Amino acid sequence: MIEKNKKWVPFIIPIETANLFITNLCKSSCSYCRVGDWVVNNEEKAHHMSIKDLDKVIDWIKISRVTNVQLTGGELMLHPDILEFVEKIVNRGINIDFILTNGLAPTELYKKSS
Ligand code: SF4
Repeated sequence: MIEKNKKWVPFIIPIETANLFITNLCKSSCSYCRVGDWVVNNEEKAHHMSIKDLDKVIDWIKISRVTNVQLTGGELMLHPDILEFVEKIVNRGINIDFILTNGLAPTELYKKSS
């Protein structure tokens, strides 16, 4: 029971990690997909986060003192600028906790992004 006139002290839990959904394109169609209908398997209907939007997101992340990001989608390795995204994020001093992928992209792409 909440006591009347009791003073509550607000507190802030710092957010350390941000999830970046950088594309909704995926060539798979898993029945258990956590993002469901948001995912499309047609490149013409796909939406990829732009480099310009990534710059804005990174600015927000830095202001918010978020230190880590997790990259996901869709299948983020199908983003046409995935390597540039990784480079930009790392160069701004943000840790990439993980990239959530289905593992179906070419091996070379994984090597270049690591
Ligand atoms: S690979 Fe991932 S994003 Fe693609 S359909 Fe399966 S669960 Fe969804």
